[in-house]
Amino acid sequence: MSQQKTKTQLATELMGKGATLLRETCPKCGGLQLRYKGRLLCVNEDDLTEATKIEGVATADIMGSLRELVVMKLQEASSNLASERDLDRQLKLADLIRKYVELLKETKEKNQEKKD
Ligand SMILES: [Zn+2]
Repeated sequence: MSQQKTKTQLATELMGKGATLLRETCPKCGGLQLRYKGRLLCVNEDDLTEATKIEGVATADIMGSLRELVVMKLQEASSNLASERDLDRQLKLADLIRKYVELLKETKEKNQEKKD
């Protein structure tokens, strides 16, 4: 993280995240302009590092709250399974639990990808 990235590297990184390079150059400095998440960014003047960070935090937040929700549902399903006597419902709950566990694994993997 301490490594300084060049403006070109940052611009490329943002484009990889869905930013589009505009045909029109900046009216102030003539530099390249990017449109990203509804914002207009000048490659020369704007802090692109900030823009990449904002996206990273937002993704982590979504994944974090999704994981919390899944963990909550998992606990709920587990306690339901513990008190359930009907075999058919047990089977459904077990299937549900398995899917929640898979989802947890998936969100974890995606989080790690984002950090790298
Ligand atoms: Zn500019």
